[in-house]
Amino acid sequence: MADHLIRIMCPNLACRRVLAVPITARGKIVKCSGCGKNVRVPQTTVPPAEPKKSEDAAAG
Ligand SMILES: [Zn+2]
Repeated sequence: MADHLIRIMCPNLACRRVLAVPITARGKIVKCSGCGKNVRVPQTTVPPAEPKKSEDAAAG
């Protein structure tokens, strides 16, 4: 089985540790290795927000 990992960030603002959890942990609760807080793994990973394209205003 491919060792795909999901990267999630700890919701604890004082921690914000990036946790790499296996895809098999989707929808489950994992414990943050940084602060020990229980973090829920989302079912689907949300792609990072795309940077807004800077519209080149071609004058004339
Ligand atoms: Zn944490």
